Parts: sequence; C-alpha cells; structure tokens
Amino acid sequence: MIHGNGPVLLTPGPLTTSAATREAMLYDWGSWDEAFNRMTKSICRDLLAIVSGHDDFVCVPMQGSGTFAVEAALGSLVPHDAVVLVPNNGAYCARMLKILERLGIAAVELKFHDDEPASVARIQAMFERDPRITHVAQVHLETSAGLLNPLDEIAALCAQHGKRLIVDAMSSFGALPIDVSKGGIDALISASGKCLEGVPGMGFVIVRRSLLEASAGIARSLALDIHDQYAYMLKTTQWRFTPPTHVVAALRAALDQFFAEGGQPERGTRYRSNCAALIDGMTALGFEPYLDADVQAPVIVTFHAPRDTSYDFKRFYEAVRDAGYVLYPGKLTDVETFRVGCIGAIDADDIRGAVAAIGRALQTLNVSVAT
Ligand SMILES: *Cc1c(COP(=O)(O)O)cnc(C)c1O
Repeated sequence: MIHGNGPVLLTPGPLTTSAATREAMLYDWGSWDEAFNRMTKSICRDLLAIVSGHDDFVCVPMQGSGTFAVEAALGSLVPHDAVVLVPNNGAYCARMLKILERLGIAAVELKFHDDEPASVARIQAMFERDPRITHVAQVHLETSAGLLNPLDEIAALCAQHGKRLIVDAMSSFGALPIDVSKGGIDALISASGKCLEGVPGMGFVIVRRSLLEASAGIARSLALDIHDQYAYMLKTTQWRFTPPTHVVAALRAALDQFFAEGGQPERGTRYRSNCAALIDGMTALGFEPYLDADVQAPVIVTFHAPRDTSYDFKRFYEAVRDAGYVLYPGKLTDVETFRVGCIGAIDADDIRGAVAAIGRALQTLNVSVAT
C-alpha cells in the first residue's frame, strides 16, 4: 500500500491510516453545522450496524482516547450498589480495576495468567461463590499480549445468570465478529483509532437502550457522562462540549473505506493475512511468539526478546524505525518481550517489509535471535 511520508506504524493505535482518511481532516467543521451533526449521526448508525445493534441499542460517542470511553461507560452505567467481576489477564483488565477503584465501585478480581484466556467455568464458579456480583467487565481482546477472550461464551453465561456485561472491545471492534443481538452484552466500548483505522480522539459506547435510559444521574463525572451526552444529542443533534471535529470527519472516511473493503469479515481476513505473514517471517528469523496459536488474535503479536546480552529494545526500536517501521514495546511483567501490530491501513507486503527491516536491524546491531 502507499503511505504518507511517515513511518508504517505497527502499533495498536495510533496506527497507519490511509491517505483518504488523512485527507478528510483538511476541512474545518463547525460544531453547529448541520452536515457535521448528520455525519456524527451516520457514524453512530454505522457503528451499531457493525455489531448488529438494532433498535434496542444506541451508540453514544465520547471525546478522548479509548480509556475515556471505558471510564465513561463504567462510571455512567454501573449503579452505586453494584459489584463488578473483572476477569484479569492483562494491563487493560487491570486498568478497568483501577478505574472502578477510583470511582468507588466495588470490584472482584478473577486473576488469569497473561497467556491464558478467561475461563467461563471459573467465572461461573465466582458467580456461585459470590452472589453479590451484579456485573462483569470483560476485555474482549487483551492487547497486552494479543490474547483473545471467549466473548460469546461469557455473554451467554452472563445472560443465563442475569449479570450485566460491559465489554472493552477496543482492539477487536471491526476486526472480529461481535453480535450484540444474540444477547448477554449490555454495553460495548471501542474507539476511532484501532481496527476501524480512523485517527485517535473519539471513543464510543454501544449500550442497551433500556439500560442507558435507566442510568440518568448515575455518572460520577460531568464530562464523562454517557447518559447526558446521549440526552443532549437527542435534543440538539450536537455533541455536549466541543466535538473532535477532524477525528469525526476522519472516522466517517475510514468507515466508508471499511464498508467498501467488505466490512468486518474482510477486515478480519486482511488482518489474519498480515498476522500470518508476520509470524511466518519472524519465525524464520528465529523469533518465537509468546502466545499459543489458538489464543492469538490477529491484531498484535508478542514476541520473546532475543536473549543475546547485546539486545536492547530502544536501540532495536530505533534501527527498525530508521528503516521506516515503528514497533511497540512489550507490556508483560515477567518476561522480556516486544510487540508488532497487524492492524491499520497495511497489507502483508508491508509486514514483509517490516520483517526484512527487523532482520537487517539485528545484523547491524549484531544481535543473534536465539530466544
Ligand atoms: C487501546 C486500548 C484501550 C484504550 O487505550 P487508550 O490508550 O486510552 O486509547 C483500552 N482497552 C484495550 C483493550 C485497548 O487495546
């Protein structure tokens, strides 16, 4: 693919965007402009359609990075007397626990290792052991390692036990199949700058309409109040507080390209092909993926760092960046790793280019890859 002058970002957001998406930002929209507000409305309609959210769901956009939308959802939709179970297998799950703690919401952590998917049986056992639990806050794709959690099974379990389920689908939305019409999911959170390939700056919460309507006055924050944002938008068609106009315009363009590509199934196919090219190429260089293939999502891959004492992530990163590709540091606490993203407006040729640059960097730095 043809990129701008910048490097190819192999990171889970911000990521490489297309020229058409960047060009959509060359216009200054006013927040009162009816065409701008129709654009917001069309984006919300399209985001709902991607996960089969029909009339019983609504999409509420929220200014800020993905975490702002996660905090907005938890702080606006979880009542004061709730107890939230958080299956934890990585840094984004831990972040939800931290948000809940800050908000003064009771939480129960269910710990898994960071290469181990959340287990439906263990979640069910927690429901039985601790009947105070009212909610589950689940990360769909734990971006820390690139691990896929079994969302459909967890949603079915929550529906069966009458627990509310709030899903951080930040790095899976648009790339992996999600269907809220099957039941079990009450709220789903993602953002503009991940698999939808927009630029960062806007999150959104897809929420069951009846739950949102029953949530007036719950929010612990003024700015991050999902219910107020929704109510204000319904009344005025405008965002409450200054909208990220260029981000919205870029997301409109990115969604047009998303649907032209064939929507979620085709985006998923391209990412799987990127991921396969990455793992093949890196394995040929001697690298070893951290996760087992059956739990690896095609979004970001964690590799063991070389054991060679001359390896230093910063120097490695800089050598690869100078060749035009940006890698991502590891986020695991107990092993030395680094990560390479498969998402963004890139294809398998870009990935092969990145792998070649990694191979050359190792040679230049005189690092051998025995892991
Ligand atoms: C990217 C991401 C977030 C949000 O992170 P921000 O830095 O706020 O954009 C949340 N959860 C997951 C799983 C993510 O991948």
